[in-house]
Amino acid sequence: MNLLIMGPPGAGKGTQAEVLVKELNITHISTGDMFRAAIKEGTEMGKKAKEYMDKGALVPDEVVIGMVKDRLSQADCQAGFLLDGFPRTVEQAAALDATLQDMGIKLDGVVNVEVPLEKLMARLTGRRVCKGCGASYHVIFNPPQAEGKCNSCGGELYQRSDDNEESVGTRLNAYIEKTKPLIDYYEAKGILKGINGDQEISKVLADILAAVK
Ligand code: ADP
Ligand code: AMP
Repeated sequence: MNLLIMGPPGAGKGTQAEVLVKELNITHISTGDMFRAAIKEGTEMGKKAKEYMDKGALVPDEVVIGMVKDRLSQADCQAGFLLDGFPRTVEQAAALDATLQDMGIKLDGVVNVEVPLEKLMARLTGRRVCKGCGASYHVIFNPPQAEGKCNSCGGELYQRSDDNEESVGTRLNAYIEKTKPLIDYYEAKGILKGINGDQEISKVLADILAAVK
């Protein structure tokens, strides 16, 4: 099964993706995670991406598109994948269509996680992420069992440098301007599944599974 999960920053894409890929036995491809890994490794691409990410701006299309094309050609994507955080512009969506067509595969569904925009600032500024496995927590809405430690791998939790009020403001504007139009793009293709993301994490998961299975 080849899926895409979209929604504004903080909608819960990463939180749901972590469980969904295990349930569906598919590969998680998060472009944000890939950029953070490149920054950690100190690659040229990572250095370039960091300039944009710190401000909350989108990384240029040509950089992201090339990275995703390479990733989709890897063997672990053959059994299916869940794209998270890509595409974020109409240009990226068109490039994805062309790539999938070349590969002779199609998207089975696009999950759109809907959360009122005014709730996202609190979700993002309270987010904590595991240094080890990337799992997402929240200081109030989804706290770890032991403070500062990941439930699944015991890794240390940190706050992303772009989860501050200023960057979040820029990211929400980028979402409204560049990414939101993709809802109509996928609606027109008849593969969009709208999911209420403003409910308990377990309920959001159940709704997504019911929509894609
Ligand atoms: P995204 O990947 O869409 O940017 P995350 O999955 O990292 O978002 O979630 C953003 C923040 O909101 C995290 O702190 C997460 O723990 C919290 N969160 C995720 N889903 C919910 C939910 N259904 N209700 C409340 N908080 C949530
Ligand atoms: P995320 O982890 O999805 O919240 O992404 C973090 C940051 O990485 C974004 O604010 C962008 O700067 C960058 N990024 C991730 N995915 C993309 C994409 N598809 N297009 C452009 N920039 C991206």
